[in-house]
Amino acid sequence: MRTFTYTALPSRVVFGSGTVTRVREEVERLGRRRVLLLAGRHLDPRVTDGLGDLVVTRFDGAVMHTPTPVTDRALVVAEQHDVDCVVAVGGGSTTGLSKALAARAGYDQVIVPTTYAGSEVTPVLGETRDGVKTTRSGPEILPETVVYDVDLTVDLPVALTLTSAVNAMAHAVEALYSAQANPVVDGMALDAIAAVARALPRVASDPHDLGARADLLQAAWLAGTCLGGVGMGLHHKLCHTLGGSFDLPHAPTHTVVLPHAMAYNAPAVPDVMARIADAMGVPDAPGGLYDLVAGLGGPTSLAEFGFTRADIGRAAELATATPYPNPRPVTADGIARLLTDAHDGRRPG
Ligand code: NAD
Repeated sequence: MRTFTYTALPSRVVFGSGTVTRVREEVERLGRRRVLLLAGRHLDPRVTDGLGDLVVTRFDGAVMHTPTPVTDRALVVAEQHDVDCVVAVGGGSTTGLSKALAARAGYDQVIVPTTYAGSEVTPVLGETRDGVKTTRSGPEILPETVVYDVDLTVDLPVALTLTSAVNAMAHAVEALYSAQANPVVDGMALDAIAAVARALPRVASDPHDLGARADLLQAAWLAGTCLGGVGMGLHHKLCHTLGGSFDLPHAPTHTVVLPHAMAYNAPAVPDVMARIADAMGVPDAPGGLYDLVAGLGGPTSLAEFGFTRADIGRAAELATATPYPNPRPVTADGIARLLTDAHDGRRPG
C-alpha cells in the first residue's frame, strides 16, 4: 500500500487550436482591465487584436533564468501604468518574468506558452541575483489562467522543440521517483513521457503536424503539473546548478543531462525505469532517451555549450553542497562521473 498526500493546484487551463482569441475573455473573467503585455518576437497579432484597449503597456525584455534587474525594470513600467494583470506570451523566460512580477506586486497572470517548459502551471519561481539562482514557491506565483494554443507552437524550430520537450519529460521522469509521488501524478507523468516519445519524431519530420504538436503541448501541461505538484531530485538540481552558475542554456542542458541522471538513479528505482521504458516503447529508459535525442540530431554533450572538464569538480561540489531528496544517495564522486559522461556525450548503459 502507498501512503501519500496530494494537493491539486488551482489553475484554470484553456487548451485547443485558436484559443488565443479567448485571452481577452480570460482577463475579463478575472475582473481585470489594465494589462501589461509581456511578449518577445513571437507575439501572434491575434493576442493584441483581441486584447485591444485592455493593453495599457508592453515589455519585451524577458531573458533566461529571470535576472532580478530585468524584473526591476519591468516593475517600474507596470507601476507607471497602474496595471492590474500580466498577459505573458512566450517561453519559460517570459513566464518567469510574469511570475517574478506577480511575486512582487500580486498581479493576476494569464500565460500563453509557446514552448514546453511547463513553468506556467507551477508555483515556483527561479530568479538570478548577482549570478546566483535561487528558487522559491508560493501561491501568489502560480498563474491564475493558462491559455494553450497549439497554433502558436507550430513555428517553434525543431531543435528548440526537441530540447523543450525533453525538458518537459524531465519533470515527468523525476516526478515518478519523487518522495511525494502519488497515483495522480504518476498517471500524468507516464502519459506525458509516452506522448513526447511518440510525437517528437512526427514533429521532426513534419513541424506543422498539428496533432503531434497538440500531443507535445498537452504533455508539457501534464509534465508541468507534475513539476508543480511534487519535489524534483538530482536531475533538476544538476541543471539548476549548470544553468545558474555556468550559464548553460536551460532546455538543451536538460536534454543532455537527463539520460545520465536516469542512469544514475536506475539502480535505486528499477521499477520506475521499467515503467518509463514501457511508456517510451524502448527496452532501456536512459539508453532509449539518449537514442531518441541523438537520432533527431539533438545535443548529447555538455561540451557543446562550452562546459569543460575543468568545470566538473566545481559543478559536482555545488550540486552536492546541500542535501536533497533523491532515490540514490548523491555523492560528489558519483556526480563527477555523471558529469564526465554528460560532458563526453557517452551513451548511458
Ligand atoms: P525561453 O523562454 O528562453 O525560450 C527559448 C527560445 O525559444 C528563445 O530564444 C525564444 O525566443 C524562443 N521561442 C519561444 N517560443 C517560440 C516560438 N513559438 N517560435 C520560435 N521561437 C520561440 O526558454 P524555455 O526553455 O522555454 O524556458 C526556460 C526558462 O524557464 C528558464 O529560465 C527556466 O529556469 C524557466 N523554467 C521555470 C520553471 C518553473 O517552474 N519555475 C519550469 C521550467 C522552466
